Amino acid sequence: MKEKILVVEDEKDIAKMLEYNLAKEGFRIVIVNNGENALAAVKKERPDMIILDLMLPGMDGLEVCKALRKQKETGSIPVIMLTAKSQESDKIIGLELGADDYMTKPFSIRELTSRIKAVLRRAGGKAKLPDEFSIGPLTIDFSAIRVSVRNKPVNLTAKEFALLKTLVEAKGRVLSRGYLLDAVWGLDDALNVQTRTVDVHVRTLRSKLKSAAKYITTVKGFGYRFETDE
Ligand code: CA
Repeated sequence: MKEKILVVEDEKDIAKMLEYNLAKEGFRIVIVNNGENALAAVKKERPDMIILDLMLPGMDGLEVCKALRKQKETGSIPVIMLTAKSQESDKIIGLELGADDYMTKPFSIRELTSRIKAVLRRAGGKAKLPDEFSIGPLTIDFSAIRVSVRNKPVNLTAKEFALLKTLVEAKGRVLSRGYLLDAVWGLDDALNVQTRTVDVHVRTLRSKLKSAAKYITTVKGFGYRFETDE
């Protein structure tokens, strides 16, 4: 069965063009024209990915993305944002709120299709995250909650392990301090814990990971990313 894509777009011509071209690629398409309907459709249709226009009547694309990322069952659905604006700041906000990729209108359908496939490939890899993950000197056993660097065990606290796991699950993507706070400390706790707490935990995590610390990079002003390359 081909992947189901939810298209959230209020401009009818663009929505139609996407529907036609993506259906031709074999995807199953569901189209909605505003943010509120998008959230309802995500629950009902359980799409494999979402193409989300930034400028929507009412709730905009950034708010939709934020709402999706806040909930566990929708938090990992890949999102490609579409926008008419080319401002770098919107792009960064979009990525910070958890969009997986970004396209500025007008875009070529060919490029969008290839990005959709790349994002789905990455998401597939994420869903199938094995019990064990290793890169370079680092090995993580998720089921046994064990981490080792150069075959030497590393003792992590529960929060440090959760932080590392969250970063690895989203590898290649920048996660904001706010996102990490929600994911590791939970929303209730997040009100009492400050985003600086994330920085402090990343620092101790890095010092414990020694030569594997290089995989956790700081994206200045935005957050952290687990690197997938050496
Ligand atoms: Ca629009």
